[in-house]
Amino acid sequence: MTDICYPARAPLLSVLQAQQAIAAVINTIQDTELLPLDQVLGRVLATALASPIAIPPQANAAMDGYGFAAADRVKDEIFSLQQVGISWAGKPFAKKLQAGQCVRIFTGAVVPEGVDSVIAQEQIRRDGDSIVFPADTAPYKNIRAAGSDVQQDQLLLTAGKVLTAVDIGLLASAGISQVAVKRRLKIGFFSSGDELVSLGQPLLPGQIYDSNRHQLRALLQNPQYQPSDLGIIKDDPALLEQTLLSAAAAHDVLISTGGASVGDADFIRQCLANCGVVEFWKIAVKPGKPLAFGRIGDCLFFGLPGNPVAVLVSFEKFVRPALAQLAGARPCHTLAFKVRCDSRLRKGAGRQEYQRGLLRQDRNGELSVILAGGQDSHQLNSASNANCFIVLEPDNQGVEAGEMVTVEPFQTVL
Ligand code: AMP
Ligand code: MG
Repeated sequence: MTDICYPARAPLLSVLQAQQAIAAVINTIQDTELLPLDQVLGRVLATALASPIAIPPQANAAMDGYGFAAADRVKDEIFSLQQVGISWAGKPFAKKLQAGQCVRIFTGAVVPEGVDSVIAQEQIRRDGDSIVFPADTAPYKNIRAAGSDVQQDQLLLTAGKVLTAVDIGLLASAGISQVAVKRRLKIGFFSSGDELVSLGQPLLPGQIYDSNRHQLRALLQNPQYQPSDLGIIKDDPALLEQTLLSAAAAHDVLISTGGASVGDADFIRQCLANCGVVEFWKIAVKPGKPLAFGRIGDCLFFGLPGNPVAVLVSFEKFVRPALAQLAGARPCHTLAFKVRCDSRLRKGAGRQEYQRGLLRQDRNGELSVILAGGQDSHQLNSASNANCFIVLEPDNQGVEAGEMVTVEPFQTVL
């Protein structure tokens, strides 16, 4: 058990240091499950997958037209070939093409033996059974070779890939109907605070609605997670400790909000120390300075601050990457880029700030960002108005309108 007395003058950890310290204690889950292809969207692929077949399995036509042999073409002159049959998608022309012959062929239809070229149907003229090809007929066109998408035994996806809709299409095209994925993470979350009231209850003086639990539940909506809502726990050390111990036995990860600081009613750190191993950090980040992190048995614990915007920032910067690592997902890089900032930003030196911004794109495609509203850590309304973080480095001391800043969009649509 680590010493829970956090030295008053201990240096603040940088965001990167805290992320690295968390990453250092995580053991990726090993359990996998075999699921039907249609149930693996967003899940983490457990093993590399190769294609058992070539895709396409056979050469086929890339458009509706006429299949012919390049050897029958008369260069720079109009020429005619006799149509001897039709190759439909799913119903190929079974015979071999002889000299002077051509076939009607449709997109996706197997190219008959003897055909090495397809011409688009708009380019020919029909004269009875005779097909008249133009003088500029090009040979060897409009045929998709067998294996031109994927060769047999070619690697399709590597372990750790978070499966997308396109990945699922790719696996289906290879005939793969079942996929081994990492099992879902069992994640328990609760709020702590005597002032908190659940939705549906009237608010008495001094009370507020518990918004964190609902925000967290939504942040945890991911096919890789199996979240469970453990409710509101009063600021009562015995109750908190009991909750931690029983919940840790049933989950891979526990997340609490509130009570994580050093006030007289902040018990999370002490309770965690009594139940397991605690790391308590003050991180040079705003919002979200205090973070209790540790383990209770094999269960990871994140004690997030109570302020709702701090919950958002600590979740995105510390919890989400940890969950990805635990789930076995390949590390990914948060999209960040520089844009012009049209607001003046206030900032003191020392902490890395994630201000809430509104990224905009004008008619010429030029991007700019403005502040989304008030930046206090209880101001969820402005955070809801935001579509990006404006990331300000610790040594930054404010931004004048017109300067460039780094943004991290929340989504790919504005
Ligand atoms: P604490 O970290 O417990 O000192 O809480 C910091 C601030 O966040 C206080 O103003 C709390 O009232 C508020 N807060 C704590 N938990 C929640 C919650 N679940 N929902 C909304 N606000 C909360
Ligand atoms: Mg509290």
